[in-house]
Amino acid sequence: MTLIDGKKIAAEIRSELKAEAADFQAKYAQQVGLAVVLVGEDAASQVYVRNKIRACEEVGIRSFAHFMPTDSTQKSVEDLVCALADDDRVHGILVQLPLPAHLDAERILSCIPRQKDVDGFSAANIGRLALDEEGTVACTPLGVMELLHRSGINVAGKRAVVVGRSKIVGRPMMLLLLNADATVTVCHSRTNELKRICSEADILIAAVGKPHFITADMVKQGAVVIDVGINRIDDKLAGDVDFDRVAPKTSFITPVPGGVGPMTIAMLLKNTLDCARRSVR
Ligand code: NDP
Repeated sequence: MTLIDGKKIAAEIRSELKAEAADFQAKYAQQVGLAVVLVGEDAASQVYVRNKIRACEEVGIRSFAHFMPTDSTQKSVEDLVCALADDDRVHGILVQLPLPAHLDAERILSCIPRQKDVDGFSAANIGRLALDEEGTVACTPLGVMELLHRSGINVAGKRAVVVGRSKIVGRPMMLLLLNADATVTVCHSRTNELKRICSEADILIAAVGKPHFITADMVKQGAVVIDVGINRIDDKLAGDVDFDRVAPKTSFITPVPGGVGPMTIAMLLKNTLDCARRSVR
């Protein structure tokens, strides 16, 4: 069994991106820029946003942080996002979710032009992914593909099973694996025979949001297991996979924490740099 060290791989990627961001700045006389919009006081969101800003600084991407009060109006948030859309210094715009309940998130996200949609959540970018055309792909599933690639795991021809079909993880994950020539099955809460399907997977991706949901009897001997889940139990993080019992059966497995998590921010930085590059083409 090989442990996939997401922390180490993400650090390697960040150091590559640092050199690429410096090249971009030297070539085009402008710094790569990412705008981050946070509305409200949600504690977890504040930590995520701070981590994203710190990661930007570390690789030489300029961050434009906008903290708005919880009672911000729909119009004030839309006006801000539209202004960022018109700002040439900003190559990527990220609106931290979830937004306060009184705001219409869809309408706010629709103010982000496709070219600056660093999260890859827009219908235009998801459509491009579905058509296997160039575009921006959601950071977490993109990070999973990068982990597989950098661990020397070839997915072509393999049987891949994704548990979870959310817009931000499961669905784009399915499309990325399909585009990479895997044979893909997607499972969800209405799936019959989940255990049997999972136990046929060469590559099993868990994005369920339930601690220790994937048990050893659901995993084929020698499978690659990628655990996207982040669950909090008594202030400790747990994945969706029963790591201690599953790991001995696998050829490769990601831990939680230190697996997929660090890759998400690394891919956000990569997506921002890619948006900047496309803006000067
Ligand atoms: P969602 O809650 O949006 O989706 C969960 C999916 O799991 C749904 O498709 C749901 O099915 C499915 N599911 C729930 N229960 C079962 C079940 N009993 N059997 C089979 N499928 C089931 O979660 P996300 O996709 O946003 O996130 C998944 C996990 O990944 C979470 O733990 C989250 O914290 C973590 N995460 C980690 C990130 C990272 O950076 N590492 C980034 C984003 C998320 P249905 O559609 O039928 O409801």
